Amino acid sequence: MARIGFIGLGNMGLPMAQNLVKAGHTVTGYDVNPAVVEGFAQAGGTAAAEIGAAAADNAIVITMLPTGDHVRGVYLHAEGILARAAPGTLLIDCSTIDVATAREVAEVAAGKGLTMLDAPVSGGVGGAQGGTLTFMVGGTDAAFASAHPILEAMGKTIVHAGGSGTGQAAKICNNMILGVSMIAVSEGFLLAEKLGLDAQKLFDISSKSSGQCWAMTSYCPVPGPVPTSPANRDYQAGFSAAMMLKDLKLAQDAAKLVGAVTPMGAGAAAVYDQYVETGEAGRDFSGIIRFLRGA
Ligand code: NAD
Repeated sequence: MARIGFIGLGNMGLPMAQNLVKAGHTVTGYDVNPAVVEGFAQAGGTAAAEIGAAAADNAIVITMLPTGDHVRGVYLHAEGILARAAPGTLLIDCSTIDVATAREVAEVAAGKGLTMLDAPVSGGVGGAQGGTLTFMVGGTDAAFASAHPILEAMGKTIVHAGGSGTGQAAKICNNMILGVSMIAVSEGFLLAEKLGLDAQKLFDISSKSSGQCWAMTSYCPVPGPVPTSPANRDYQAGFSAAMMLKDLKLAQDAAKLVGAVTPMGAGAAAVYDQYVETGEAGRDFSGIIRFLRGA
């Protein structure tokens, strides 16, 4: 069993860290919010009072933070992870951040004798709680092999995407496809509504035809056809519109940097931006259909 430091005990990080404790690892947790650290200690973890205490004396340090700026701060600060972790420590960042920051921090880490993986996840809070997350991992073969048994305590599907930054690349490419396809499915159902075609009938036909996709068959944005989709519970998140917008913006930033042509991705980012502006940031991202209906 490993000694693990875990920094960022939020909606995702806390249940992930708790699953590591359940698997028998010794986990020291830190968060800027003392209340969540207290909750983690009550669930069998060890509380750290500062980043350094979670970074030092551990074989592995995992982070689950909101943005690239947070990751930069927590790793590169004078009293941050890179300053306090012992040489040989394996660093795993599970936050969803931009590819450039992931690669830059991993490079600085390598300069200090520390190996770093980017390992963003999909599966949401339910996946974090149930230990069924999908991990998309960027980094060396050796680091991936070392991390695999640890990630297995928190996830079900663990894929080595390639070198440093490719985990983040996989995450934003996947979510750009999802954002675009959710809007496309919503537009299809709205057009059907205006043309007098029943939503269930469109689902029965399209889910077996060439329009079929995950946004339709697993997460249908109209109530009825897929009973588990957020449309059946007033679009309570799930995966919030704000999170989708964050990932679509990351995809657009990356596309601009490398000169990739992504007009649909750009359009999806603009539509989600407007939706979030209506005060629906916390609503499930499939609620975009209500915005399109009213727009
Ligand atoms: P969250 O805001 O609930 O948690 C982030 C935690 O980091 C908070 O507890 C915050 O206090 C802490 N934090 C911020 N700055 C810190 C610092 N300097 N030191 C220590 N702790 C600090 O966010 P979340 O929903 O847990 O998401 C975390 C990451 O996972 C994000 O990058 C998000 O995009 C990604 N993600 C989230 C979901 C989801 O459904 N929530 C799904 C997939 C990926």
